[in-house]
Amino acid sequence: MEKLHAKKCRRVVLVPFPLQGHLNPMLDLANILHSRGFSITIVHTKFNFPNPADHPDFQYVPISDGISNWDISASNLVRLASTINTNCKDSFRKCLIQMMQQQQQEEKQNDQVVCIIYDFLMHFAETVANQMSLPSIIQRTSNAAALLAFCKLPRLRAEGYNCLQDSTSDELVPGLHPLRFKDLPTATMGSLDNFLQLIAVVCNTRTSSAIIWNTTDCLEHSSLTQLQEHYNIPFFTLGPMHKMALAKSSNLVIKDDNNCIEWLEKQAPHSVIYVSLGSIATLDQKELTEMAGGLANSHQPFLWVIRPGLGSGSDAHLPEAFQELTGDRGCIVKWAPQKDVLAHPAVGGFLSHCGWNSTLESISEGVPMICKPYFVDQKMNARYLTHEWGIGIELDEVMQRTDVAKAIRRILVEEEGSRMRQKVTALKEQIKHCIKEGGSSYNSLNELVQFISSF
Ligand code: UDP
Repeated sequence: MEKLHAKKCRRVVLVPFPLQGHLNPMLDLANILHSRGFSITIVHTKFNFPNPADHPDFQYVPISDGISNWDISASNLVRLASTINTNCKDSFRKCLIQMMQQQQQEEKQNDQVVCIIYDFLMHFAETVANQMSLPSIIQRTSNAAALLAFCKLPRLRAEGYNCLQDSTSDELVPGLHPLRFKDLPTATMGSLDNFLQLIAVVCNTRTSSAIIWNTTDCLEHSSLTQLQEHYNIPFFTLGPMHKMALAKSSNLVIKDDNNCIEWLEKQAPHSVIYVSLGSIATLDQKELTEMAGGLANSHQPFLWVIRPGLGSGSDAHLPEAFQELTGDRGCIVKWAPQKDVLAHPAVGGFLSHCGWNSTLESISEGVPMICKPYFVDQKMNARYLTHEWGIGIELDEVMQRTDVAKAIRRILVEEEGSRMRQKVTALKEQIKHCIKEGGSSYNSLNELVQFISSF
């Protein structure tokens, strides 16, 4: 099928949730749609907003959110989502009315807003779209297996399973193979009531016309099929979006430190462990010390992202002897150009918190993973990486330097790591197939372009 473009120049309004792991796939989607002829408006909160200079072709419109200072931590996420949904509805409505009036005054028939695409956590956008008689589409920034699990939680609870609080059971969850109870998300991110509210928001598609997924058929065919039977609206499966997009996304807070690429140039192929826990997860002093000890004891080169706030105490610090022990063998940055790092031939493994973006980015470059998951979907992703796809090793809940060092050597030095690299390289090839002409993500994008053009 040839590459389809928007029939006329039509404007799509995108509404991202203001966290890095949500913003990246939405900006990737914006780039993808722009390359197919759509004009793009990003309506964003004033809190934690993307840099408009990164995408000069897009229109950026801030809306008031009533947030001044916010501690971005896992326990605050549900509250952040609910605060934004309460505070942004009116300002979004005003902003849309203004945009549409301006279009009418300037008689820009070719620049008509045709639909709203919103991050699944920004559901106020759907309410406003309805009020303005505009169609809306949900963008899901996590994977299909996670949604299946989320939607099953209330039923499991009703059947008497205690899975919403703290489950440590190794037992398999009925109907959710290969997940164990201990892989399921729990209400540790806030109160149980808030968590139940989150589940309702996550699982309900309300009146939206379709769902756009950042996943692929080759990774998640079974979960997608089950969900499609449940939701009676079209699915567009465009993942991995960072591979479908022609331009880069945007950093929220910290700039990429590109010096690490120069450092990688000096390392042998597949010799480096890349360590990053994403934009939210934190380490307490004990974990930071154990991680540092593990990296030192592995005797392998490492690139470690220590972003401001990674250490959870204000006085969190690396052990004094760490620099002396590791010397040039280690490179520490505040923020890495992660996709370029993972694509570098020197990188042989990724020690990760298993956020969905990091997971997709690692698989797309054929890099096996060491999994240290923390919250929401991360434990489920880790289970898929280790058990379903066989391309990851999971660390124990309690981080210990000997385990960290052993896992690094298993991935980088031992035969087991080579086998995982072969498996993940095969998945990388399948993903390449999905995104090229005739592949499932490519075809799905054509269908999405047709779908939006039909509004
Ligand atoms: N990221 C990055 N540089 C870093 C750390 C993270 O560019 O040093 C990006 C990473 O490529 C990914 C996103 O930040 O796209 C993190 O999203 P993910 O879903 O993996 O985790 P979250 O931050 O949401 O927990």
